[in-house]
Amino acid sequence: MIKTVKGCKDIYGEDIEIFRSVEKVLRDSARSYGFKEIVPPTLEYSELFQRSVGEDTDIVEKEMYTFTDKGGRSVTLRPEMTASVARAYVEHHFETLPSPVKLFYIGPCFRYEKPQKGRYREFYQFGVEVLNDESPYLDAEVIALAYEIGEKLHLKDLKVKINSIGCKKCRPHYKEVLREALKPHYEELCDDCKRRFYTNPLRILDCKRESKALKDSLPKITDYLCDECRAHFEKVQKYLSEFGIPFETDNTLVRGLDYYTKTVFEVVSNDLGAQNAVLGGGRYDYLIEEIGGRHTPGLGFAIGMERLIEVVKSQKSAQNEKEELVYIAYGKGLEKEAYLTAKRLRSSGFTVIVDSKGGAFGKQLARSRKRGAHFTVVIGEDEFKKGTVQLKDMEKQTQTEVKKEELTEAIAQISESKNGAKESNAPRK
Ligand code: AMP
Repeated sequence: MIKTVKGCKDIYGEDIEIFRSVEKVLRDSARSYGFKEIVPPTLEYSELFQRSVGEDTDIVEKEMYTFTDKGGRSVTLRPEMTASVARAYVEHHFETLPSPVKLFYIGPCFRYEKPQKGRYREFYQFGVEVLNDESPYLDAEVIALAYEIGEKLHLKDLKVKINSIGCKKCRPHYKEVLREALKPHYEELCDDCKRRFYTNPLRILDCKRESKALKDSLPKITDYLCDECRAHFEKVQKYLSEFGIPFETDNTLVRGLDYYTKTVFEVVSNDLGAQNAVLGGGRYDYLIEEIGGRHTPGLGFAIGMERLIEVVKSQKSAQNEKEELVYIAYGKGLEKEAYLTAKRLRSSGFTVIVDSKGGAFGKQLARSRKRGAHFTVVIGEDEFKKGTVQLKDMEKQTQTEVKKEELTEAIAQISESKNGAKESNAPRK
């Protein structure tokens, strides 16, 4: 049997439904902020990523799908899309467009990584890029958009982490200060960080293998910013506070690449467990120059779609578990009444199953229990005549007679008192 290539996957069934609905939230959100879509090609010349993503990164060193095409050129299946957007900006003279140029993208990316849950060799990224404008207002606006997306997808305990990593004026000095502080700990560093000590010590700050205690003991970059970077960072924080976006500064948050400048940020959520970054982004005022364009400030973020889909999926199953299942048992000839009762409950958001066989109530109740129903509504002949039903709480094994028109409210009340929070179990009204 021929299978999918290792690390690649078919997206089908529930996953593609969720993918498309998440995609719609992302597209609509980006459009509402004035972003226009761009669809770059999947294949680029390898040089683009060597120059933009950088030689000294895991992506370029180990993870690129690079091959020589039949014309002898080195080409690469893109590992990310910012570089492609930057290339398109220079190639098509987007500097002639009104600034800021606001673009969004969604598409597959490729990295030759060890496949594991949430990590694939082909995965999808959505991202936005703001080009040719250095206003700190835009940093805050892009972060607000990122936060808003998290809110729209109902991610839990959303928080924004921000930091400033300075610019070409102030960062070199900080790197020296950092190296000095790291010197006594050199032997304790992991092998990658021993190399980073010489090539780019900033990346030691976001290495998962180094201890928090070590990182906390190191000098903070925000104490070494030049006046321009400090003023920029203060403004970003001021705007975020004014916009009501909860954020905290995290001095260990860095982007290892030299073209990143000033603001870097992550949006984190408790929904994602240990790997809790929903998305990451930052300002990259030197990127366009790096690939041969004129000095052009830029800013953006990228989200991995697979992670979002996982979260939305787990939320859905949690919701389904909480949804109240109501089972309806009925006496002889009362199918119509059972159907109408079910209809009323369904329109209030309950999931309702009507017994399909009728017959002895004992047997109907046994079927209700087998289904895992939370409530059974029993419509007997006597009750029908009185305009009432028996409401059985299957968990507590209690039974109360309630008026037909008060049934929905009665079930809602019991489930609310059982579960404390109204949102969790009450019907969706
Ligand atoms: P990065 O470009 O490494 O900053 O990653 C941006 C987003 O892409 C993150 O949200 C990652 O979860 C996602 N991502 C990166 N690599 C992979 C991968 N191999 N599989 C799935 N998602 C990925």
